[in-house]
Amino acid sequence: MRRFSLLSIVLGFMTVLGIFSLSRNQDENSYTRLRMEMVQKQLIPRGITDERVLEAMRKIPRHLFVNEAYRHLAYEDHPLPIEAQQTISQPYIVALMTQLLNLKKGEKVLEIGTGSGYQAAVLAELTHNVFSIEIVEALAIKASQTLRDLGYKQVFVKFGDGHAGWSEESPFDVIIITCATKDVPSALFSQLREGGRMVLPLGNPQTYQTLTLITKIKGKPKTVKVLDVRFVPMTKK
Ligand code: SAH
Repeated sequence: MRRFSLLSIVLGFMTVLGIFSLSRNQDENSYTRLRMEMVQKQLIPRGITDERVLEAMRKIPRHLFVNEAYRHLAYEDHPLPIEAQQTISQPYIVALMTQLLNLKKGEKVLEIGTGSGYQAAVLAELTHNVFSIEIVEALAIKASQTLRDLGYKQVFVKFGDGHAGWSEESPFDVIIITCATKDVPSALFSQLREGGRMVLPLGNPQTYQTLTLITKIKGKPKTVKVLDVRFVPMTKK
């Protein structure tokens, strides 16, 4: 009798585990479907044509970069809150910035504003050399953990003020700033190699900015304005 009840407890437990993992699989399947739809409806019609960018965004589980409470909204066409009053950018803006950078395999990229780590993961799908700086320590820790859990071992996250850049690792082929700044931080421009590209939201951090692509030509910035955007401000230590 005792043996029987032990067996039924074990069987009951296994059934619960089975149902649990089945519903997790269903969740994962529906997130995959939402992700494909995001690419199809939000990115391709707006002119994201770089197949490597589209592929990265079809692959990366964006819902794992946001808190559980927001997971069901992870593939919607807008930014979402993360910790410390910061945000993960709208999928289209992540795709657009990445496409503008025209990152080639093996190139070295520096991101300012790690946030959730999602943009860093997109970059890591395109090259193996990704460095990212985050000024909020809790975010830097959490993003490193998320990236590590998902196997992005080639992304190096540092806690600090991005204004100073990462001189030990410079020069960079590409720099992406994902917080709003009035001016291009001079240390960052000097850590960009000749011919390198930088994308950033340039303008008033309290209102709106213009997504700007800068190429360093003969030591000088060549600037192209792309689109008006709103990012959280780039703060100072
Ligand atoms: N790229 C992120 C979103 C960035 S939100 C993602 O994919 O989720 C902007 C981030 O920039 C915030 O996390 C903010 O804390 C950070 N930030 C603001 N000022 C900074 C600075 N001076 N140096 C580094 N990070 C900064």
